Amino acid sequence: MSADFIDTAAVHAGREDLAGLGVHVPPIDLSTTYPLGDVEGGGASYESLAAGHRLMDGDSCVYQRLWNPTVARFERALAELEEAPDAVAFATGMAALSACLLAAVAAGKPHVVALRPLYGGSDHLLASGLLGTEVSWATAESAGALVRPDTGLVVVETPANPTLELVDIAALCRQVGDVPVLVDNTFATPVLQRPIGHGAALVLHSATKYLGGHGDVMGGVVATSTEHASRLRQIRAVTGGLLHPMAAYGLHRGLQTLPTRVRAQQAGAEKVAGWLQEHHPSVADVFYPGLPGCDPQGLIGRQQSGPGAVVAFTASDGYAGAVRVASACRLITHAVSLGGVDTLIQHPAALTHRPVAGDAKPAAGLLRLSIGLEDPADLIADLATALAPV
Ligand SMILES: *Cc1c(COP(=O)(O)O)cnc(C)c1O
Repeated sequence: MSADFIDTAAVHAGREDLAGLGVHVPPIDLSTTYPLGDVEGGGASYESLAAGHRLMDGDSCVYQRLWNPTVARFERALAELEEAPDAVAFATGMAALSACLLAAVAAGKPHVVALRPLYGGSDHLLASGLLGTEVSWATAESAGALVRPDTGLVVVETPANPTLELVDIAALCRQVGDVPVLVDNTFATPVLQRPIGHGAALVLHSATKYLGGHGDVMGGVVATSTEHASRLRQIRAVTGGLLHPMAAYGLHRGLQTLPTRVRAQQAGAEKVAGWLQEHHPSVADVFYPGLPGCDPQGLIGRQQSGPGAVVAFTASDGYAGAVRVASACRLITHAVSLGGVDTLIQHPAALTHRPVAGDAKPAAGLLRLSIGLEDPADLIADLATALAPV
């Protein structure tokens, strides 16, 4: 496939059969239950879907928790963009991560090696051991040495939330051998990075962010092998963290503009990050993989085609400065989340990363910006006013 297959695939994936159905956009199937035909056939469909198999010819969907055609379309589309054999969608990114952790526990391998920093919720879920996992916190260098016979999963985010560190996925996979590596690809999206090609076994998204792209849909999805997907479907069927068909429709539509949005938002982020670094005395450090010094391993271009649209920076007078800037922005909304068409700013240590343990908590002066589609000059003007000394 050409490097830019994603532009066309984003528009058409998961829609191959629509013309044959006589429609132009995917139908939304809201059925919670489905006609079964006879008892034997219905039972066989139930058996097959509950075992995690995909819907087969002649199967009834049986019940929405087992299969839904609208959700399956989004899954097929996302799998194609991630160049993965299959994908499984969940109610949220956290439901998706929970299913991956439960799969490791159920396989008798409850030990997880995780690289910090991670999204605060993921960090909290792992640190709490709530799902029966036991975590060892690793760096990109120490991960291999921490693997044990009962290690069922390695978890990494690259770029990482909130400070945008990049991790060499292929090098990490080599270090940990047979242990499946889960890459949280929420920040890069398949437009900029497709971890399966670098050796990742599971690619997780908070679909709530860039895939939906408009701040109005929650979802999670894991792109992976047929085997892992079947296990995740099994877990989804019994634990119930499924994606609603209306949300699946919104996410599938979001994918159509994903490449265009990500590239345009990235172009804005490059301008804002450059301005923050070069021009502002109230800014101490800027964290953005596109800036010289933020990508020491040269992974932009090799692993990730561009730096993305999330920028973090520290206020030069620490917490007090960060608090002042967050509430002084006018065009930019002070709110958690990211990946939408409008620009958001938030304070990770107080909000998204609040539950993270003391020594791993983001700096008190750190702010995270998710750059939207506004004219970067307007964003810079808003930041200039917010950063002006009092
Ligand atoms: C938001 C986020 C999550 C959690 O996703 P939800 O959809 O909020 O459950 C996981 N990973 C990253 C990187 C995130 O930004």
